[in-house]
Parts: sequence; structure tokens; C-alpha cells
Amino acid sequence: MQDCLFCHIVDGDIPSTKVFENEYVLAFKDIHPVAPVHVLLIPKIHIQDTNHITDENVRYITEIYRVVDQVAEICGIKEEGYRIICNCGEDAGQMVPHLHFHLIGGAKLGEKII
Ligand code: AMP
Ligand code: ZN
Repeated sequence: MQDCLFCHIVDGDIPSTKVFENEYVLAFKDIHPVAPVHVLLIPKIHIQDTNHITDENVRYITEIYRVVDQVAEICGIKEEGYRIICNCGEDAGQMVPHLHFHLIGGAKLGEKII
């Protein structure tokens, strides 16, 4: 999709600190980390948010959950644990309209969500 920040990151037009990549998923470091580990996992096609998951594109989402333990292991937080957050829409404060999952860890996170 044109003028989507995360599509540009997938295409390599905008740089990112890549942590993991396969055919379906790109994981890269969040530019404003809220914890020692803060990585974004995104589908490599444009899906706006969880309201736009369909039978045709759901493989990209299941793949994110299939590889999240690998990404957590790369980041050194697999055993200690982590939190996954996905914001959808205005009330949730979704800032980038390309579906993404925050992988957060590396510290005791407490009860509050970001
Ligand atoms: P959300 O509020 O769920 O839409 O989260 C968007 C996230 O994208 C925020 O945590 C931002 O810090 C992060 N972000 C925005 N631009 C970039 C970028 N160019 N590279 C990495 N992370 C980014
Ligand atoms: Zn996009």
C-alpha cells in the first residue's frame, strides 16, 4: 500500500533494525521502546488492523504467532516471559494503520498495559 510506513519498512525504503524475517513476517525493533525488549511483528502484506483479517490473509497472522517464540528466543526473553499487545483503531491508540503486534519484555512488566 502506498504511503504506509510499515509497508515502506517491509520494502526496505525506510530503514529498520530487523530482528527476524521470513516469507510472511517481519520483526523489527520499535523506535520508541517501552521496555528493554520492544519488537514489532508485522505481516509482510498490508493489513490495516484486526478488523481486516480475512480467510485470504489470515495465514500472515497465524504465522506471526507461529514464530513469536523464535523471535522471543532471539531477543533472549523466551524463558522469562513477555507480553504481546495489538492495538486496533482509535480508542486503542493505534498510531500506524498496518497491523502489528508489540512483543515486550526484558523486565517485570507489572499490571499496566502500554
Ligand atoms: P501503535 O500505537 O500500536 O500503532 O504502535 C505503533 C508503534 O510503532 C509505536 O510503538 C512506535 O514507536 C512504532 N514506530 C513508529 N515508527 C516506527 C519506525 N519507523 N520504526 C520502528 N518503530 C516505529
Ligand atoms: Zn502497510
